[in-house]
Formats: sequence, structure tokens, C-alpha cells
Amino acid sequence: MKLAVASGKGGTGKSMVAANLAFTLAWTGEVTLIDCDVEEPNLHLFFPAPATTRDITIPVPSIVEFACKHCGKCAEFCQYGALTVLPDRVLFFPELCHSCGGCMLVCPKNAITEVSRRIGTLSTSVPMKGLQLITGTLDTGSPHAVPVIREAKTMAGHNTTVIIDTAPGTSCPVVEAVDGCDACILVTESTPFGLHDLQLAADVVSRLGIPAGVVINRSDGKDDQTIQFCTDHDLDIMMTIPFSREIAAIQNRGDLLTRARPEWQKDFCSIFFKCKALAGRER
Ligand code: SF4
Ligand code: SF4
Repeated sequence: MKLAVASGKGGTGKSMVAANLAFTLAWTGEVTLIDCDVEEPNLHLFFPAPATTRDITIPVPSIVEFACKHCGKCAEFCQYGALTVLPDRVLFFPELCHSCGGCMLVCPKNAITEVSRRIGTLSTSVPMKGLQLITGTLDTGSPHAVPVIREAKTMAGHNTTVIIDTAPGTSCPVVEAVDGCDACILVTESTPFGLHDLQLAADVVSRLGIPAGVVINRSDGKDDQTIQFCTDHDLDIMMTIPFSREIAAIQNRGDLLTRARPEWQKDFCSIFFKCKALAGRER
């Protein structure tokens, strides 16, 4: 069972929901929690533990100057503007390269080889029995979030319950993180902005054919428009978390709601079973 936790905007409590869900389920089985918010991963703050870290690299071209005849074919081919051929040398802009390997194929002089370029890291830790945390971290300035997310998902394998915390929004990294999941939890808050971004996120998962439910966080009780939207779009409201100073204080000190107040675990368990039911529906 692979679940994504997503939201159309940042700050809705998406990571909080993912962390509490993983913490709850880890008491009864094996769970892998993946932080795919690779530009700003923060789940490790909820689960401090020693981690093993390795680099993630992508292959990028390296020009063999003595073999290059400066014909320009590689730059002509590259749709990303990562290569510029001058009369006496080839300039390579690694931050623009998408690692497609095409320039190497079109070079008539075999003057391009591949070298590895680091784009980020992958850390794994076991912060409690039953829970493995995988954290993808993109290097600052690198545009290659997607390969980092792909690597993190691959590392999780298929044997456990996998919970994926996506980046906020609806961009490519979110699509990559959500793609292939059995169900998606959309976290929102009951504000006009929250509803607008929920609409965008619901549209993305619907286009990907992934069944989704909604968690309303920091509810002030005025959720009518969100409820109406969910009803109109056949989205189950799986849980409503009220706005509460106590809950905010728990999170502000880096704790988990389900750790500080274990009575909440049954609500998070119930989200999981609702996701299972959704995943069992026809897609
Ligand atoms: S295609 Fe090959 S030979 Fe031509 S400019 Fe590029 S690296 Fe040099
Ligand atoms: S590998 Fe692809 S994206 Fe990178 S420089 Fe070559 S053609 Fe351009």
C-alpha cells in the first residue's frame, strides 16, 4: 500500500499528517515514510535519529577537447541550451543539463563521455521500531528534484506500507511523488486560499487516476465551502483537525500529536483504513 500526502499549498500541515500517520501505523507493522519534499525536507525533525547518507548523481557530458572538432552538432541537439560551441572550445552549463545523453549520441567524433554530477542526497534512518525514514534532499540550486524523488521512491521497495510526503503545490516534483500511489490524502485548511489550492491538487490526482480523500487541518468550524467542494467531487473528508493552541504548541516543540496525545492515534488509523478502501475502488 503506497499512500501520498499532498497539498495544493505550503503550510497546511501536510508533513504533520504524514508523520502522525507513519508514527501510528509503525506500532502495528512495518512502515516506510519518504520525505519527497526534497527542496525543504523536514520530517527528520519529528524523528531525530542517526542516519546513513549517500549521494545521488546523474550522468552529464564531459567534452574530450582533443577529439572535438567544434562542429556544433551537440549544441544544436541540446534543447535545454546546456551546450554552446565556440570556435576553440565547448562550454557546458551543468545546471541546464537534463541528463538525456543525446549529445553523446549525435557527436560524430565520439568526443563526449559521461561523468557523474551530484544533485542531492538520500538519507535513511530507523527512528523507532517498525519505521524507516527515507529523506531525499536536493542540493541548493539544483533543478533536478525529480531524479531525487524517483531514487527515494525506488529505495522504499514494495514490501511495506509506504507513506510519501510530497512537496506542496502541483508542479512536476509533486506529480512524480504521487504517481503510482494507491491513494492520496489531500491536506487543506478552511480558508479561501486553502480551498483554491485544494481544487488544483484534487485536479492533479484525479488526472493521474489516483483516488483521494481530504484532511481539513486547523479547522475553525467554517468549513462549508470545503465540504461542498468535497461532496461535489466525491472526495471523502477523512478527518478534521480543529484549530487548537494545544495542538499548535505540540507541533511547535517538534513533537507529534499522536505521540503527545495517543488518543489521536485511532483517528489516524481510521485515515489509513479509509485510504485502503479508496484504493480498493475501481480506478
Ligand atoms: S558534436 Fe562532438 S565534435 Fe561536434 S562540437 Fe560537440 S563535442 Fe565537438
Ligand atoms: S545530456 Fe542532454 S541535456 Fe545534457 S547537455 Fe547533453 S543533450 Fe543537453
